[in-house]
Amino acid sequence: MSDIIHLLPDSVANQIAAGEVIQRPASAVKELLENAVDAGADDIKLIIKDAGKTLIQVIDNGCGMSETDARMSFERHATSKINDAQDLFAIRTLGFRGEALASIAAIAQIELKTKRIEDEVGTCIKIEGSVVKSQEPCSSANGTSFSVKNLFFNIPARRKFLKKNTTELRHIIEEFQRVALVYPGIKFSFFNDNSQLFNLEKSGLKQRIASLFGATYNNRLVPVEQKTDLVDIKGFIGKPEFAKKTRGEQYFFVNGRFIKHPYLNHAVDNAFRELIPSDAYPTYFIYFEINPNEIDINIHPTKTEVNFENNKIIYAMLSSAVKQALGKFNLTPSIDFDVEKGIDITPLPGSAEIKQPTVKIDESYNPFEVEAQKGSKPAFRQHQKPDTRNWQKLYGDKDFTQYKQEISNHPESDTSISFNNDSKGDETDGGMVFQLHNKFIVSSVRSGLLVIDQQRAHERILFERFLAKLETQKGTSQQQLFPVTVQFSPADAEILKEINDELKVLGFDIEDFGENTFIVNGNPAEMNNRDIKGVLEGIIENFKKNLKDITKDKKVNLARSMAVNLSIKEGKKLQTEEIKSLIDQLFACRLPEVSPGGKPTLRILTMDYLNEKFN
Ligand code: ADP
Ligand code: MG
Repeated sequence: MSDIIHLLPDSVANQIAAGEVIQRPASAVKELLENAVDAGADDIKLIIKDAGKTLIQVIDNGCGMSETDARMSFERHATSKINDAQDLFAIRTLGFRGEALASIAAIAQIELKTKRIEDEVGTCIKIEGSVVKSQEPCSSANGTSFSVKNLFFNIPARRKFLKKNTTELRHIIEEFQRVALVYPGIKFSFFNDNSQLFNLEKSGLKQRIASLFGATYNNRLVPVEQKTDLVDIKGFIGKPEFAKKTRGEQYFFVNGRFIKHPYLNHAVDNAFRELIPSDAYPTYFIYFEINPNEIDINIHPTKTEVNFENNKIIYAMLSSAVKQALGKFNLTPSIDFDVEKGIDITPLPGSAEIKQPTVKIDESYNPFEVEAQKGSKPAFRQHQKPDTRNWQKLYGDKDFTQYKQEISNHPESDTSISFNNDSKGDETDGGMVFQLHNKFIVSSVRSGLLVIDQQRAHERILFERFLAKLETQKGTSQQQLFPVTVQFSPADAEILKEINDELKVLGFDIEDFGENTFIVNGNPAEMNNRDIKGVLEGIIENFKKNLKDITKDKKVNLARSMAVNLSIKEGKKLQTEEIKSLIDQLFACRLPEVSPGGKPTLRILTMDYLNEKFN
């Protein structure tokens, strides 16, 4: 029998390869846009017809190609971007495999017109299914115009499986956005069936994002920046209140390449976790610049995964950068009433050294301990300066004590509504504060009227305190004079057993007596005289509810449940001292502005807003 193995003709090999590289019109759009960027263009036009099924054309003003290069560019493994294997570790261009054009040419009708600036005339090549139909000199602008017609014309099965136009167009827009988001310095325009979808002028990054996603983004974004020897992180995050219900606008780019990275995504989620509802997704556009030898460059053209050598370090840096950005944003009052002007975020001076934020709260900051020992009212501490070290570290040098001090030093605190106005020098005394309908705490501050939701504020305070106890493993318990016996359903009893270690850190002393019965010998000082069974039931209930959300870790979940259950509630009348203590403690929190459930704890009605209301 004769030999049976033979080499496939190039055209067939290319068609097979094309199956991998070009899955739909959007894949061709991506490759052509990337080539135009790599060619150094600063003006790129994308024209499509019929969602790319009939025509995809990319016109650039880049370097163009010589007659020979134009022909060569369609060969498989033909590239100008790398020479040897060593170059693979220093890739700075988007393409490098030399596969795209060969693949596209195998499955479509191509017309390429290109001219270098130094050439008199350009060259025009027509190819159909890998077969060169013609190449001749032509008149052409400097740069390249690449037309892909009738994609999959020779593979009817593939063509048939293309989705409806709206779907294919959505994919194309997504690819277009991913490229446009990286190169705000390049002008992009995009026409679909003769109507213009995008016209993106050269601009800064923020403006580019706004041109792509809508002008409202100008007010929604907060800058992120973190420069280290290992990696440069920059970009923007969306303010927490604009978090989306779907995982839409989340973009990571590494060295100009869009990537998906669940691990790093978790770092961002984590930084946002107390600021947004658990079913919302933060918006982010984050760019990493890193030495190419720190990442695995073997990036498949259609894949968007990338591996960092130092995953964990980058995770920590990203998380800190995002927290830092959120921190700065949090310090800006009147977000609701001043939307027009936007938020005034002071960018870090280029030379500024960024402090590494610390997330743990100082364990010594636990005013209740002192109070509990003294046997006085444990719910609020009095006249004790909050330990503000940690949150200041987190948020840079501006701080929330500004409000506290304003409340204390307000000139109008001499008026009739003020309390304790005789003790001028003492920060924690003086100032106009009062309780409104046993729900809000109201105070005058320089910029207007500060309104605090008492329940949410207390939830925030307790949440941070409990979380700190859980993280430092240090808490104190008050022994019950008479131990209390409680019984639960088998399911709840299981949960109680599961969280008993943590409850111990939080101050409970619970003994498992078997048969779903427990003896409570001690409880946290924060309990006051609350019904133990009720509180434990509430915690278990909350814990179960939060369990569905896997992004919350156990400690956060528990601290949240405890805070919600033990907080003072709406409707509770507070003494002046309690009010002041609440304000002190709130502003000593890491994130005073939001409750652990992601709702606002305070608002400022600015003078502008009030003046307008009286107009
Ligand atoms: P790769 O981008 O991986 O090198 P491609 O198949 O996409 O491979 O392109 C092959 C080569 O053709 C490129 O390396 C480049 O030299 C040239 N080329 C492609 N598109 C353009 C363009 N728009 N302008 C100038 N040169 C181009
Ligand atoms: Mg390419």
